[in-house]
Amino acid sequence: MFEAEKSKMIKDQLIGRGIKDARVLKAMSSTPREEFVREMDKPISYADTPLSIGCGQTISQPYIVAYMLEMLDIRDEHRVLEIGTGSGYEAALLSRLAKEIVTIEIVEDLYEEGKRRLENLGYKNIEVVRGDGYRGYEKKAPYDRIILSAAPTDIPENLVDQLAINGRLIAPVGGLFQELILLEKDESGKITKKRLLPVKFVPMVGE
Ligand code: SAH
Repeated sequence: MFEAEKSKMIKDQLIGRGIKDARVLKAMSSTPREEFVREMDKPISYADTPLSIGCGQTISQPYIVAYMLEMLDIRDEHRVLEIGTGSGYEAALLSRLAKEIVTIEIVEDLYEEGKRRLENLGYKNIEVVRGDGYRGYEKKAPYDRIILSAAPTDIPENLVDQLAINGRLIAPVGGLFQELILLEKDESGKITKKRLLPVKFVPMVGE
């Protein structure tokens, strides 16, 4: 239904701005963003902007999602933890890139809705968990990749602990001013952080 809008988004917003990873582009072109937005927003589901999903939360702008996924360099065999299920859109993308996804949502209504939506759309390798992302999800740790879609003021220690050796974590970090940070854990467990770009995400709540 939205094939033309989707192709245009991929060409103009993603490829046009430098997204190159073929797996990310393929995941973006096979995931129906219109299924993850509110009924009234369907016509603008592929617009170059975040959209409201209720409860004061948003589904991120397509470019930012693609950029984060590209920087994570996700492989087929990976287990990935996402903080902030929201609409479930990013979890759906992740499910096409990795073996197993665990996604945590703190707001009850969004958790229920996201879980139901992902089930209805037939995604099988996603476990939706109701909880506080600051704690992570020890039960399935370690994770090869961790992605935060709400901004903490500092990267939560629990999440760094739950990151596998040779793992990568990407997160918007800050308050009024936020930056996207890429954290890597090397073979010896040493942590390095890189500042990528200024961003604007909803704040992470809890703790
Ligand atoms: N990835 C989502 C983006 C949702 S916006 C999508 O594709 O639609 C960020 C989400 O993070 C919101 O749903 C918000 O409720 C959730 N969130 C905020 N703080 C959280 C926390 N401490 N633990 C888990 N989820 C949290």
